[in-house]
Amino acid sequence: MLSGPGVSFELFPPKTPQGMEKLLAALGDLASLSPRFVSVTSGAGGSGREEETISAVRAVMTASGLPVMPHMTCVGRTEDELLDVLRGYHEIGVKNILALRGDRKADAPAPRPSGHDLHAIDLIRIVNRHFGEHFCVGGSAYIEPHPESLGRDRDFHYMKEKQEAGMAFAVTQLFFENRLYYDYLDACARHGIDMPILPGIFTITDGAWIREFSATHRVTIPPALRSALDRHDGDGEAIRRIGLDHTLAQVRDLAAHGVRHLHIYTMNRSENPRIIWQAFTNA
Ligand SMILES: Cc1cc2nc3c(=O)[nH]c(=O)nc-3n(C[C@H](O)[C@H](O)[C@H](O)COP(=O)(O)OP(=O)(O)OC[C@H]3O[C@@H](n4cnc5c(N)ncnc54)[C@H](O)[C@@H]3O)c2cc1C
Repeated sequence: MLSGPGVSFELFPPKTPQGMEKLLAALGDLASLSPRFVSVTSGAGGSGREEETISAVRAVMTASGLPVMPHMTCVGRTEDELLDVLRGYHEIGVKNILALRGDRKADAPAPRPSGHDLHAIDLIRIVNRHFGEHFCVGGSAYIEPHPESLGRDRDFHYMKEKQEAGMAFAVTQLFFENRLYYDYLDACARHGIDMPILPGIFTITDGAWIREFSATHRVTIPPALRSALDRHDGDGEAIRRIGLDHTLAQVRDLAAHGVRHLHIYTMNRSENPRIIWQAFTNA
């Protein structure tokens, strides 16, 4: 799925029929860029929103014929519940899964007394134990430590463990500082982690949202980018331009460093992903 240069797109499951129409319109445009696959995010923490993901996966597969990779989260779920979802994906011909822990929602039921809360590695093992090589399983990578990280050495230990459990590739949390990505790849190599780690590319369109996200998810906004966002606070058009300019500089630099695959967070839109992909391939 990942040999040679390529692009993949992340979509999210819409909540309304109008949202689905928009998604399918964007998908038509994105499909013309020949992505390797498209992924569809999922709810987590026992939020019961898996149905939205499953129906979006079906719709995207039917409309585009592209390989679709559902995100699956396991926190707050039992092995039987996960197997039900996996069987459903198996039946409709899904071949790729992004296996994640997810985050427990505040209003989700408490963990079952009998079991521990699952980690992504548990889901990877469940998929491989029950479905062998039918599914190609990916997972997350945090080039900046996850907020719950107990230290960098532990992070690499768990990442290596996930690789040994059958995780074939990773997609990174969004980032705005390429140096952190290159350093992370070097550190992975030193720890024997040799799976492809696809850069997750996100374009800022909302200053307030990204400030909040970067604080809670510990994602660095480089000082020059932050002050540009601050200077134009409230000017939506300027923020969108600053965000896109930053992404274009980022992907040109990634191309110059030999990166060959982008995973673009689309927010169910095609305009920016198209511009970004063109800049990357022309760099
Ligand atoms: C590319 C990408 C896509 C995402 N898509 C979604 C989505 O669709 N829906 C959603 O709800 N969330 C999504 N998330 C968010 C993700 O679910 C959360 O960040 C969650 O907090 C961690 O999930 P994980 O799969 O990284 O967990 P894990 O790999 O389980 O790691 C979580 C934490 O636990 C530690 N850890 C890992 N393994 C073990 C272990 N065996 N024992 C003890 N500690 C361990 C890790 O070091 C880390 O600190 C996504 C994240 C990324 C990067």
